Amino acid sequence: MSSAGMESGARRWKPTPLLTGTLALHAGAAAAVAAQPAWWPWAAGCVIASHVPLAAAGLWPRSDLLGPNWTTLPPGAGNRIALTIDDGPDPEVTPRVLDLLDRYDARATFFCIGDAVRRYPELVVEIVARGHAVENHSQRHRHNFSLQGPRALRREIEAAQNTLTEISGVRPLFFRAPAGLRNPFLEPVLCALGLQLASWTRRGFDTRNRDAEDVARRLVTGLAARDILLLHDGNASRNPQGRPIVLDVLPMVLRAAQDAQLRWTTLRAALDSQPSSAHATLTPDPQIAGTRAEASPQPDGTQ
Ligand SMILES: [Zn+2]
Repeated sequence: MSSAGMESGARRWKPTPLLTGTLALHAGAAAAVAAQPAWWPWAAGCVIASHVPLAAAGLWPRSDLLGPNWTTLPPGAGNRIALTIDDGPDPEVTPRVLDLLDRYDARATFFCIGDAVRRYPELVVEIVARGHAVENHSQRHRHNFSLQGPRALRREIEAAQNTLTEISGVRPLFFRAPAGLRNPFLEPVLCALGLQLASWTRRGFDTRNRDAEDVARRLVTGLAARDILLLHDGNASRNPQGRPIVLDVLPMVLRAAQDAQLRWTTLRAALDSQPSSAHATLTPDPQIAGTRAEASPQPDGTQ
Protein backbone atom coordinates (compact mmCIF):
# COMPACT_ATOMS: atom_id res chain seq x y z
CA MET A 1 0.00 0.00 0.00
CA SER A 2 1.81 3.07 -1.14
CA SER A 3 1.29 6.46 0.40
CA ALA A 4 1.13 8.04 -3.04
CA GLY A 5 -1.93 8.16 -5.24
CA MET A 6 -5.33 6.62 -4.67
CA GLU A 7 -5.80 3.58 -2.47
CA SER A 8 -7.70 0.56 -3.64
CA GLY A 9 -11.30 0.80 -2.50
CA ALA A 10 -11.18 4.58 -2.84
CA ARG A 11 -14.58 6.26 -3.10
CA ARG A 12 -15.46 9.31 -5.12
CA TRP A 13 -15.96 12.31 -2.83
CA LYS A 14 -19.33 14.00 -3.22
CA PRO A 15 -19.84 17.23 -1.24
CA THR A 16 -22.94 17.23 0.98
CA PRO A 17 -25.66 19.89 0.46
CA LEU A 18 -24.31 21.80 3.47
CA LEU A 19 -20.85 22.04 1.86
CA THR A 20 -22.21 22.88 -1.58
CA GLY A 21 -24.38 25.60 -0.03
CA THR A 22 -21.46 27.06 1.92
CA LEU A 23 -19.24 27.13 -1.17
CA ALA A 24 -22.04 28.77 -3.21
CA LEU A 25 -22.44 31.40 -0.52
CA HIS A 26 -18.70 32.16 -0.63
CA ALA A 27 -18.85 32.52 -4.42
CA GLY A 28 -21.95 34.72 -4.17
CA ALA A 29 -20.29 36.98 -1.60
CA ALA A 30 -17.20 37.36 -3.79
CA ALA A 31 -19.35 38.21 -6.81
CA ALA A 32 -21.35 40.75 -4.79
CA VAL A 33 -18.20 42.50 -3.57
CA ALA A 34 -16.79 42.54 -7.12
CA ALA A 35 -20.00 44.23 -8.35
CA GLN A 36 -20.49 46.54 -5.37
CA PRO A 37 -17.30 46.92 -3.28
CA ALA A 38 -19.23 48.89 -0.62
CA TRP A 39 -21.12 45.69 0.27
CA TRP A 40 -18.01 44.03 1.67
CA PRO A 41 -19.03 44.18 5.35
CA TRP A 42 -22.28 42.34 4.54
CA ALA A 43 -20.48 39.83 2.35
CA ALA A 44 -17.84 39.19 5.01
CA GLY A 45 -20.55 38.80 7.65
CA CYS A 46 -22.35 36.19 5.54
CA VAL A 47 -19.14 34.23 4.93
CA ILE A 48 -18.24 34.23 8.62
CA ALA A 49 -21.79 33.24 9.64
CA SER A 50 -21.75 30.36 7.13
CA HIS A 51 -18.95 28.71 9.11
CA VAL A 52 -21.13 28.32 12.19
CA PRO A 53 -23.23 25.40 10.84
CA LEU A 54 -20.04 23.74 9.50
CA ALA A 55 -18.37 23.93 12.90
CA ALA A 56 -21.56 22.72 14.61
CA ALA A 57 -21.77 19.74 12.25
CA GLY A 58 -18.14 18.83 13.11
CA LEU A 59 -18.85 18.98 16.85
CA TRP A 60 -21.85 16.65 16.53
CA PRO A 61 -20.37 13.14 16.15
CA ARG A 62 -23.55 11.54 14.79
CA SER A 63 -24.31 14.11 12.08
CA ASP A 64 -24.05 13.28 8.38
CA LEU A 65 -23.93 16.94 7.30
CA LEU A 66 -20.21 16.64 6.43
CA GLY A 67 -20.42 13.21 4.73
CA PRO A 68 -21.78 9.67 5.09
CA ASN A 69 -21.63 8.44 8.68
CA TRP A 70 -22.73 5.06 10.06
CA THR A 71 -24.83 5.70 13.17
CA THR A 72 -26.57 2.32 12.81
CA LEU A 73 -25.92 -0.83 10.79
CA PRO A 74 -27.38 -0.89 7.25
CA PRO A 75 -31.07 -1.89 6.87
CA GLY A 76 -30.15 -5.39 5.67
CA ALA A 77 -28.44 -6.22 8.99
CA GLY A 78 -31.66 -7.72 10.34
CA ASN A 79 -31.53 -8.38 14.09
CA ARG A 80 -27.80 -7.84 14.33
CA ILE A 81 -26.09 -5.19 16.45
CA ALA A 82 -22.48 -4.06 16.71
CA LEU A 83 -20.22 -3.48 19.66
CA THR A 84 -17.38 -1.03 18.98
CA ILE A 85 -14.51 -0.78 21.46
CA ASP A 86 -12.21 2.23 21.19
CA ASP A 87 -8.80 3.55 22.21
CA GLY A 88 -6.95 0.24 22.70
CA PRO A 89 -5.20 -2.01 22.71
CA ASP A 90 -4.51 -1.84 26.43
CA PRO A 91 -2.34 -4.50 28.12
CA GLU A 92 -4.49 -4.67 31.26
CA VAL A 93 -8.00 -4.34 29.84
CA THR A 94 -8.00 -5.76 26.30
CA PRO A 95 -7.17 -9.41 27.21
CA ARG A 96 -9.99 -9.40 29.80
CA VAL A 97 -12.41 -7.86 27.31
CA LEU A 98 -11.50 -10.59 24.82
CA ASP A 99 -12.23 -13.28 27.42
CA LEU A 100 -15.64 -11.75 28.19
CA LEU A 101 -16.51 -11.60 24.49
CA ASP A 102 -15.51 -15.26 24.09
CA ARG A 103 -17.73 -16.22 27.01
CA TYR A 104 -20.75 -14.81 25.15
CA ASP A 105 -19.49 -15.88 21.71
CA ALA A 106 -19.71 -12.24 20.62
CA ARG A 107 -17.75 -10.53 17.81
CA ALA A 108 -16.73 -6.88 18.26
CA THR A 109 -15.07 -4.12 16.25
CA PHE A 110 -11.97 -2.59 17.88
CA PHE A 111 -11.13 0.97 16.81
CA CYS A 112 -7.43 0.92 17.65
CA ILE A 113 -4.92 3.77 18.03
CA GLY A 114 -1.86 3.27 15.78
CA ASP A 115 0.67 4.19 18.49
CA ALA A 116 -0.88 1.72 20.96
CA VAL A 117 -0.85 -0.96 18.26
CA ARG A 118 2.91 -0.39 17.83
CA ARG A 119 3.41 -0.75 21.59
CA TYR A 120 1.32 -3.90 21.96
CA PRO A 121 1.34 -5.65 18.58
CA GLU A 122 0.67 -9.08 20.11
CA LEU A 123 -2.69 -7.84 21.44
CA VAL A 124 -3.83 -6.81 17.98
CA VAL A 125 -2.81 -10.17 16.54
CA GLU A 126 -4.85 -11.77 19.34
CA ILE A 127 -7.92 -9.59 18.62
CA VAL A 128 -7.94 -10.69 14.97
CA ALA A 129 -7.15 -14.33 15.80
CA ARG A 130 -10.25 -14.46 18.02
CA GLY A 131 -12.49 -13.37 15.14
CA HIS A 132 -12.91 -9.66 15.85
CA ALA A 133 -12.36 -6.74 13.49
CA VAL A 134 -9.72 -4.03 13.86
CA GLU A 135 -10.41 -0.56 12.42
CA ASN A 136 -8.72 2.85 12.29
CA HIS A 137 -8.97 5.33 15.19
CA SER A 138 -6.02 7.52 14.03
CA GLN A 139 -2.33 7.09 14.74
CA ARG A 140 -1.99 9.29 17.83
CA HIS A 141 -5.54 10.12 18.98
CA ARG A 142 -4.67 13.78 19.37
CA HIS A 143 -7.26 16.08 20.90
CA ASN A 144 -6.60 18.68 18.21
CA PHE A 145 -7.39 16.16 15.46
CA SER A 146 -10.40 18.09 14.14
CA LEU A 147 -8.44 21.36 13.97
CA GLN A 148 -6.05 20.06 11.31
CA GLY A 149 -6.00 20.67 7.57
CA PRO A 150 -6.32 18.00 4.87
CA ARG A 151 -2.62 17.10 4.68
CA ALA A 152 -2.20 16.60 8.42
CA LEU A 153 -5.44 14.61 8.60
CA ARG A 154 -4.29 12.35 5.80
CA ARG A 155 -0.87 11.82 7.40
CA GLU A 156 -2.46 10.87 10.70
CA ILE A 157 -5.06 8.49 9.23
CA GLU A 158 -2.73 6.95 6.66
CA ALA A 159 -0.08 6.29 9.32
CA ALA A 160 -2.69 4.33 11.29
CA GLN A 161 -3.82 2.48 8.13
CA ASN A 162 -0.25 1.37 7.52
CA THR A 163 0.44 0.44 11.16
CA LEU A 164 -2.76 -1.57 11.47
CA THR A 165 -2.40 -3.32 8.12
CA GLU A 166 1.21 -4.26 8.81
CA ILE A 167 0.57 -5.65 12.28
CA SER A 168 -2.93 -7.15 11.98
CA GLY A 169 -2.62 -8.31 8.37
CA VAL A 170 -6.02 -6.75 7.65
CA ARG A 171 -6.55 -3.36 6.05
CA PRO A 172 -9.08 -1.22 7.97
CA LEU A 173 -12.30 -0.30 6.16
CA PHE A 174 -13.75 2.04 8.81
CA PHE A 175 -12.54 5.16 10.56
CA ARG A 176 -13.73 6.77 13.76
CA ALA A 177 -12.54 10.28 14.64
CA PRO A 178 -10.94 10.87 18.06
CA ALA A 179 -13.81 12.01 20.35
CA GLY A 180 -16.00 11.90 17.23
CA LEU A 181 -14.94 15.47 16.31
CA ARG A 182 -14.47 16.35 12.61
CA ASN A 183 -14.09 19.13 10.08
CA PRO A 184 -15.07 19.41 6.38
CA PHE A 185 -11.61 18.21 5.20
CA LEU A 186 -12.05 14.75 6.73
CA GLU A 187 -14.50 13.15 4.29
CA PRO A 188 -12.38 13.71 1.12
CA VAL A 189 -9.41 12.13 2.95
CA LEU A 190 -11.50 9.12 4.00
CA CYS A 191 -12.75 8.72 0.41
CA ALA A 192 -9.19 8.71 -0.95
CA LEU A 193 -8.12 6.08 1.60
CA GLY A 194 -11.18 3.87 1.02
CA LEU A 195 -12.50 4.37 4.56
CA GLN A 196 -16.07 4.79 5.77
CA LEU A 197 -16.74 7.01 8.80
CA ALA A 198 -18.53 5.24 11.65
CA SER A 199 -19.94 6.76 14.82
CA TRP A 200 -22.51 5.07 17.06
CA THR A 201 -26.15 4.79 18.01
CA ARG A 202 -25.52 5.04 21.74
CA ARG A 203 -22.59 5.52 24.11
CA GLY A 204 -22.28 5.31 27.88
CA PHE A 205 -19.44 7.80 28.42
CA ASP A 206 -17.38 5.02 29.99
CA THR A 207 -14.14 7.04 29.93
CA ARG A 208 -15.65 9.54 32.39
CA ASN A 209 -18.56 7.85 34.14
CA ARG A 210 -17.36 5.72 37.09
CA ASP A 211 -20.69 3.98 37.64
CA ALA A 212 -20.84 0.73 35.63
CA GLU A 213 -24.60 0.26 36.12
CA ASP A 214 -25.31 3.75 34.83
CA VAL A 215 -23.09 3.24 31.76
CA ALA A 216 -24.75 -0.11 31.00
CA ARG A 217 -28.21 1.43 31.41
CA ARG A 218 -27.38 4.15 28.86
CA LEU A 219 -26.23 1.52 26.39
CA VAL A 220 -29.06 -0.99 26.70
CA THR A 221 -32.08 1.22 27.28
CA GLY A 222 -34.06 0.87 24.06
CA LEU A 223 -31.50 -1.58 22.65
CA ALA A 224 -32.70 -2.47 19.15
CA ALA A 225 -31.68 -4.25 15.97
CA ARG A 226 -28.94 -2.45 13.96
CA ASP A 227 -27.66 -0.48 16.97
CA ILE A 228 -23.95 0.40 17.16
CA LEU A 229 -22.74 0.65 20.77
CA LEU A 230 -19.57 2.39 21.94
CA LEU A 231 -17.33 1.23 24.78
CA HIS A 232 -13.59 1.69 25.51
CA ASP A 233 -10.78 -0.73 26.38
CA GLY A 234 -8.24 2.13 26.34
CA ASN A 235 -8.74 5.18 28.58
CA ALA A 236 -11.39 3.25 30.54
CA SER A 237 -12.59 4.97 33.69
CA ARG A 238 -12.28 3.05 36.94
CA ASN A 239 -14.68 2.48 39.80
CA PRO A 240 -13.75 3.60 43.33
CA GLN A 241 -11.97 0.25 43.85
CA GLY A 242 -9.74 0.94 40.82
CA ARG A 243 -11.34 -1.65 38.54
CA PRO A 244 -11.83 -0.59 34.88
CA ILE A 245 -15.61 -0.22 34.64
CA VAL A 246 -15.81 -1.66 31.12
CA LEU A 247 -15.21 -5.09 32.71
CA ASP A 248 -18.47 -4.75 34.66
CA VAL A 249 -20.40 -2.97 31.91
CA LEU A 250 -19.63 -5.50 29.21
CA PRO A 251 -21.31 -8.56 30.82
CA MET A 252 -24.47 -6.51 31.44
CA VAL A 253 -24.55 -5.38 27.79
CA LEU A 254 -23.83 -8.87 26.46
CA ARG A 255 -26.62 -10.35 28.61
CA ALA A 256 -29.08 -7.67 27.51
CA ALA A 257 -28.41 -8.48 23.86
CA GLN A 258 -28.85 -12.18 24.57
CA ASP A 259 -32.18 -11.53 26.33
CA ALA A 260 -33.37 -9.40 23.39
CA GLN A 261 -32.28 -12.16 20.96
CA LEU A 262 -30.01 -9.76 19.09
CA ARG A 263 -26.86 -11.12 17.45
CA TRP A 264 -23.45 -9.41 17.46
CA THR A 265 -21.68 -8.65 14.23
CA THR A 266 -18.72 -6.54 13.14
CA LEU A 267 -19.10 -3.38 11.06
CA ARG A 268 -17.17 -4.92 8.15
CA ALA A 269 -19.39 -8.03 8.18
CA ALA A 270 -22.41 -5.72 8.03
CA LEU A 271 -21.07 -4.19 4.81
CA ASP A 272 -22.50 -7.25 3.10
CA SER A 273 -25.99 -6.20 4.14
CA GLN A 274 -25.64 -2.78 2.55
CA PRO A 275 -27.46 -1.97 -0.73
CA SER A 276 -25.15 -3.18 -3.52
CA SER A 277 -24.24 0.21 -5.03
CA ALA A 278 -22.97 1.55 -1.71
CA HIS A 279 -21.24 -1.73 -0.94
CA ALA A 280 -19.29 -1.73 -4.20
CA THR A 281 -17.61 1.53 -3.27
CA LEU A 282 -16.05 -0.04 -0.19
CA THR A 283 -15.09 -3.46 -1.48
CA PRO A 284 -11.33 -3.82 -1.24
CA ASP A 285 -9.30 -5.38 -4.02
CA PRO A 286 -9.16 -9.21 -4.20
CA GLN A 287 -5.68 -9.35 -2.71
CA ILE A 288 -6.85 -7.54 0.41
CA ALA A 289 -10.11 -9.48 0.51
CA GLY A 290 -7.99 -12.64 0.55
CA THR A 291 -6.02 -11.33 3.50
CA ARG A 292 -9.26 -10.60 5.31
CA ALA A 293 -10.59 -14.09 4.79
CA GLU A 294 -7.35 -15.70 5.95
CA ALA A 295 -7.06 -13.48 8.98
CA SER A 296 -10.53 -14.18 10.28
CA PRO A 297 -11.63 -17.63 11.35
CA GLN A 298 -15.20 -16.52 10.68
CA PRO A 299 -15.19 -14.49 7.47
CA ASP A 300 -18.70 -13.16 7.94
CA GLY A 301 -17.81 -12.09 11.46
CA THR A 302 -21.22 -13.10 12.79
CA GLN A 303 -21.94 -15.61 15.45
ZN1 LIG B 1 -11.13 7.56 21.08
